[in-house]
Amino acid sequence: MPFEMIPLSYAFDALEPVIDARTVEIHYTRHHATYLKNFNSALEKYPELYQKSPEAILTNLEQVPEDIRTAVRNNGGGFVNHNLYWASMSPDGGGEPQGKLAEAIQKEFGSLSTFKEALEKAGLGRFGSGYAWLSRRADGSLLVHSTANQDSPLSEGLTPLLVVDVWEHAYYLKYQNRRADYLKDWWDVVDWKGAARRFEAE
Ligand code: MN
Repeated sequence: MPFEMIPLSYAFDALEPVIDARTVEIHYTRHHATYLKNFNSALEKYPELYQKSPEAILTNLEQVPEDIRTAVRNNGGGFVNHNLYWASMSPDGGGEPQGKLAEAIQKEFGSLSTFKEALEKAGLGRFGSGYAWLSRRADGSLLVHSTANQDSPLSEGLTPLLVVDVWEHAYYLKYQNRRADYLKDWWDVVDWKGAARRFEAE
């Protein structure tokens, strides 16, 4: 069976004023949905891949047949990265992380504000299109990094915990060229609870 969109857990306007309703609607129903459509199309030739999870496919990208690998990297990445982007935000977001994730951030970055600066810098420094991430290494430690285009941290052996999309389509209607302002405002909708759940999973 082809993969399906995961319904948003909030309304298109629920992230306002940080992200406007029109941006969320276009981003989810057009950009994200198109990645899924093209991901499913790429897999049609090898339907056995539908038996795996999209995350497992990206984790083992080198096992994907070479003739569809680039399409899977771009469109499978586009599907999975956006799933986590929506899950990284909440209308009840903002504030500070709690529990083990808070401790790990303190340990790795020294303070929450240092971590935030690092993530903003990663997003601002990504030339062109991509993402800024908080990910977990196999040994449990945290890192801030960015990826280009629709590349996934899963393909680098990392477990992504939080992601902010810095493609222009994520912020252009409201922020135009002001990516730095979008990144600063984004903290008001960040879903720390979801990030903590992902950090403590496995
Ligand atoms: Mn996007």
